Amino acid sequence: MGGYLRLSVLVMALAGCVQSAPEPKPTGTLSSQSIPASMRGVQAKQLFGAHGHGSAQSPAPLGGYAKGCIAGATTLPETGPTWQAMRLSRNRNWGHPETIDMIKTLSRKAAAQPGWSGLYVGDISQPRGGPMISGHRSHQMGLDADIWLRPADNLSLSRTQREDISSISMRRANGAYTNSSWTRAHHEIVKAAAQDPRTARIFIFPGAKVKMCNDEKGDRAWLRKVRPWYGHHYHFHVRLNCPDNVSGCQPQAVPPPGDGCAEAQTWVRNILNPPPPDPNAPKPKPRRELTMQDLPRQCVAVLQAQ
Ligand SMILES: [Zn+2]
Repeated sequence: MGGYLRLSVLVMALAGCVQSAPEPKPTGTLSSQSIPASMRGVQAKQLFGAHGHGSAQSPAPLGGYAKGCIAGATTLPETGPTWQAMRLSRNRNWGHPETIDMIKTLSRKAAAQPGWSGLYVGDISQPRGGPMISGHRSHQMGLDADIWLRPADNLSLSRTQREDISSISMRRANGAYTNSSWTRAHHEIVKAAAQDPRTARIFIFPGAKVKMCNDEKGDRAWLRKVRPWYGHHYHFHVRLNCPDNVSGCQPQAVPPPGDGCAEAQTWVRNILNPPPPDPNAPKPKPRRELTMQDLPRQCVAVLQAQ
């Protein structure tokens, strides 16, 4: 309480003496005082959803993958030599420059696969990151990207076509196995994504992970980054590490050692033979909507920047 009061007094004192001086940079923990009245009690997804372009700041992911924002995001151009961004109406082709570069690099490798001219790229982040009105819980700091599993065999899709066409599901038996659409090219593209040193994790359905575990006869180190997850049979999700030399970006713990193939096998067994529900399992808590109070203090400045 004492700290809170002291900070309030400090903020009031600063507010009273900076008519022409540059904006004071607030320090310390986030108090409601440092959040402008117009942002208090408002769902953060509404505030972030209202921005059509990135902030004029140097690039910085701030916070965590599911509770953060991004300063200075750039766009993946809507069409490039080896990619197309999909669902342009969502305006989610914004990310950290390393993410954009990683996607471009991966798309060149994809273009070398038979039947692929490059990649169809799904959601990255909103122009300033943050929570979204619809869809993801993560993708908040410009370091997550969804890559369609549908082979990108036509890179001259119109805007309308990019709204209308769908990706293709690769799963069979609820994700326990891949279906006949899965090819070695998928394996090679996921492998290339995992082998990028910037990649922290890849999320894909359990059957795909097990398939890649079985098919990989060479180096298996990359499999460690490929994590089985719910959904993710129309696209796979690439999550990048926090870039070097940034502060304020909270990394996720590294995946457990090993290739993770036994764990993926357990997921598959549980899909095929679901264990009986645990009567003592805690009821899932309804998810609370995030407000600016939940996000790093710097995200207020990201929203306020030009
Ligand atoms: Zn995703």
